[in-house]
Amino acid sequence: MEGVPGVSSAVALGLDLGGSSVKACLLGSRARAAPKVLRTETWPLDGDRSPVGVIGTLQSIVEHFGVPDLLGLAIPATIDPGRGLSLVMPNFPAEWRGFAVVDAVHSAVGLRPTLINDAKAFSVAETTLGAGRGWDLVACLVLGTGVGGGIVHHGRLWTGSGTAGEFGHIIVDPEGPRCGCGSRGCVEAVAGGEAIEVAAGRPTVEDAFRAAGDGDVRAAHAIDRATSALASAMASITATLAPDVFVVGGGVAAAGDALLGPLRGKLLERVNIIPPSQVRVHLASLGREAGSIGAALNSIHDSAQPD
Ligand SMILES: [Zn+2]
Repeated sequence: MEGVPGVSSAVALGLDLGGSSVKACLLGSRARAAPKVLRTETWPLDGDRSPVGVIGTLQSIVEHFGVPDLLGLAIPATIDPGRGLSLVMPNFPAEWRGFAVVDAVHSAVGLRPTLINDAKAFSVAETTLGAGRGWDLVACLVLGTGVGGGIVHHGRLWTGSGTAGEFGHIIVDPEGPRCGCGSRGCVEAVAGGEAIEVAAGRPTVEDAFRAAGDGDVRAAHAIDRATSALASAMASITATLAPDVFVVGGGVAAAGDALLGPLRGKLLERVNIIPPSQVRVHLASLGREAGSIGAALNSIHDSAQPD
């Protein structure tokens, strides 16, 4: 990324709200230079995950860093970016549904944050500074408890009419298990971390991969089913978007080659409309900081938008 048009110099603070902690990243941006990560920190969420409790934590973090030029906030929810609302936020208290999070943060810290979904923040970060850097069209998949995603075109998040890139809800088996969204057989319902744990009969995805590697038939079957579902979803994405590259991250992707090896092989079996050399699947490279980096980058992009 060649700097940010319209922004000569800025310091942006990105905050990424997770289930048990908030990640923070201070990012510096200067004209004609790539944005640079200046500092990262992790703050625990001290049990109170209500909107009031979380806004209090965010306020403490902003005060700790010093009020920046720009503020970005990533949350694990579907959002209404125009109105600054969280919509569906699984695993958080019900008060988050429809909560005016942007207004609340603005009142608390005196700076209006730019709101983004956490998987979309991951996508912006990995495409700008990580494994998708240098490619025009990048399809990102975040394999965590569920499956998130994002599409970045020429360095900008592409949202379509609002939620483009929700790859976790591509249906790979119409008779399959019920998904949290209400449909059946979404890839998330088969290949999300929680689905893998249940199918493998293991407490964690890491444990499921380890057991499969040790020859456990049930765990191996669960992972085989998950990689098949992901490959089918990625073949559909390829047919629809023809991305230059896929970037795959999230907790499940920590399995590395045990995931990517079979995933690449199955994707190649399913994609016959483009040459194999153009089917690229890269592991994410920014680790757990991707969400906070992406939140900060998104605030810079937002500030550079013409009014
Ligand atoms: Zn779904």
